[in-house]
This record gives sequence, C-alpha cells and structure tokens, in this order.
Amino acid sequence: MKLLIYGPMFAKKSTHLIKSYKDSPNSIAITNKIDMRYGAGKIISHDGIEIDAINCCEFSEIAEAINGVETIFVDEIQFFSQEFVEKLLALDKKIFFYGLDKNFLGESFPTTEFLQKRIESVKFWAKCRCGMPADFTKKNGGSNNIIEIGGSELYEPVCKKHR
Ligand SMILES: [Zn+2]
Repeated sequence: MKLLIYGPMFAKKSTHLIKSYKDSPNSIAITNKIDMRYGAGKIISHDGIEIDAINCCEFSEIAEAINGVETIFVDEIQFFSQEFVEKLLALDKKIFFYGLDKNFLGESFPTTEFLQKRIESVKFWAKCRCGMPADFTKKNGGSNNIIEIGGSELYEPVCKKHR
C-alpha cells in the first residue's frame, strides 16, 4: 500500500503523519535533511506535537533502518529525488508520502508530481485568511529562492484570489 498526501503548508499534513505514525506499530518516520527547523531527528506539527524521525536524503542512509519495519512515513517528499522515491516504491511495505505539491510560485514540485502520477493520492486543504479553502502557499518576504525553510512568519496558505 502506497499513498501520497499532498497540499499547501498549514494543511495539517504533519499532524496527520504524526497521528498515523503513533497508530502504526513497527513504523519509522523519515524527513529531509534540508528541513532542520526543529533540529535533527524530529518531525513536529504546527500544534507542537513531535515524533522521532530520521533526516536523510539518500536511500543508502535509511536502507538499514527500514529493515524489518512494516510502515514508513516520509515527510517533505518534495525535497527528495525521484530516484529516492522509486527505491521506496519498489519495497513491499506500507508507505505514506507527505509533501507540498506546489512551490510559492504555484509551480509543481517534480517529485510530488511524479508520485501523483504513480500512486493513489489525497489532497489536504488549508484555510485562507478569507475563510476559503487554501490550495496555495504564499511567501511573505524572504528571498526569491524556491527552497527557503520557514514557518508562519514567512509562509501563508491562500486561496486563488489571495495568491
Ligand atoms: Zn482567500
């Protein structure tokens, strides 16, 4: 079983990941090395609940850790390579992938797009300040870099009208 959960920031994807992880015995959580917002070895939801996670980018870094594990939760899938994801897809394990589908310019993240075509997916929505469902992540300030790690001080979920 492989499932992708995607959407903008603040759509409670990490909250879902953490709850599902806690409900799954013999599971492991993985996140990317790029995202060290909370320090290494953790995934923390916006409401402050945390679990242990492995920070990696290459499949070789987790090959040993996932041995014998039944379920794998991967956060921030947009930061991983397609090659990394393909290796996970080849495993006979339950895998939940979580990530952003679009950057702040509204362009698709290639790895998430690749997964959308390959496996079943569920879209999570956030809420815009106007109350409408939010499908986009807007950047307020910061640099023009596509990858810039930040929280609500830098990013905001918005609807089409408020992009
Ligand atoms: Zn709006």
